[in-house]
Amino acid sequence: MPGTELFGSEERKEINDVLETGILFRYNHDQQRNGIWKAREFEAEVRKITGAKYAHAVSNGSAAIAIAMAASGIGAGDEVIVPPFTFIASIEAVLFIGAIPVFAEIDETLCLSAEGIRKAVTPKTKGICLVHMCGTMADMDGIMAVAEEHNLILVEDAGQAFGASYKGTSVGLFGKAGSFSFDFFKIATAGEGGIFITNDEDIYKLADAYSDHGHNHVGNNRGMEQHPVLGFNYRISELHAAVGLAQTRKVPHIREVNRKYKKMLTDILSKTEGISFSHLTDPAGDSATFLNILMPDQETAQRTVDEFNKAGVAGFNYWYTNMYHFINQWDHLKKMSTASALPAQVLGTPQDYANLHLPKSQEVVGRLISFVIRCTWTEDEVKTLANNIAACAKKAMPVHA
Ligand SMILES: *Cc1c(COP(=O)(O)O)cnc(C)c1O
Repeated sequence: MPGTELFGSEERKEINDVLETGILFRYNHDQQRNGIWKAREFEAEVRKITGAKYAHAVSNGSAAIAIAMAASGIGAGDEVIVPPFTFIASIEAVLFIGAIPVFAEIDETLCLSAEGIRKAVTPKTKGICLVHMCGTMADMDGIMAVAEEHNLILVEDAGQAFGASYKGTSVGLFGKAGSFSFDFFKIATAGEGGIFITNDEDIYKLADAYSDHGHNHVGNNRGMEQHPVLGFNYRISELHAAVGLAQTRKVPHIREVNRKYKKMLTDILSKTEGISFSHLTDPAGDSATFLNILMPDQETAQRTVDEFNKAGVAGFNYWYTNMYHFINQWDHLKKMSTASALPAQVLGTPQDYANLHLPKSQEVVGRLISFVIRCTWTEDEVKTLANNIAACAKKAMPVHA
């Protein structure tokens, strides 16, 4: 993911603005800060790109998705439908707000499918934590229909999909609230940072207070502010917000280059027999941070990965064996190994996480290989990569007698 590729004078300028004043805190100190409000500017830039009415910057994307769920009314004992293929932060967020994850099937969109969600709904289901994986977007028409049918709270973890949209609407704005990550690996980075978005003023106010010990942020005497709810500290610092601001301004450029290179790769690779691609529900809205290829089966995908390693082809993820992105390796979750008891352990879970039956997700993730698209590539590098991928895939394809 390319934000880090473009770290330069723009980021340094924004950081220096903050260093000049020494006000590293995002609130108050109106006189000393000399008009420098980086968190506010970062939020304004995110509103511009997403079209969200409200954006609130916080310490990281994991906090942002937890806040999105809590502010939307999901809490202790509530069952939340989640995908088995996501960065594990989505599942941790459900558990740490006291709710109970219920795993459902994904499909070739790499996201929860409407059908998968429908099959997992029980009378106790309160919400859906929908993850837009690998830079793309879920089937929103289908998923909105299930959410409405069963009156479920939809929250979107768009941690990997900042800049992506579905039929003209930014991801993160379909449900009650959404979140983005600006960690070091995303399309734009703040070093560490996250953004919460919503179009609902009440949810925004709740999220704002929740992420700063309940402060309502009214007035100029922090110690005397009202505290409508109990909260916690998920604040972002001005230094991180400064970096996030400079990086967010670069996203339209990064996305344009990503799309061009992804199209070049796709055009070349679609001529290779046996290679197909993940299903883009709105190709025009792709953030294009990843090229997601699907091999005919898991064995061929593994052989292709072996060929990549032999040939020195780098820059790909085989999520099926990844420790943090696919349920097969989440032994700590299966055993519920925790530092201290979580509500899910006290209340009990409706699924045995060690014995889930998710054949479709197993099949799709087993076949999936994702290449990170780099906006600093040259066109020659893109062509070379495509040819290398094709050559390795050909060697790995099953031989038909
Ligand atoms: C990166 C990511 C997160 C977590 O973000 P952090 O900023 O690293 O806490 C959450 N969900 C998804 C889908 C992610 O990819």
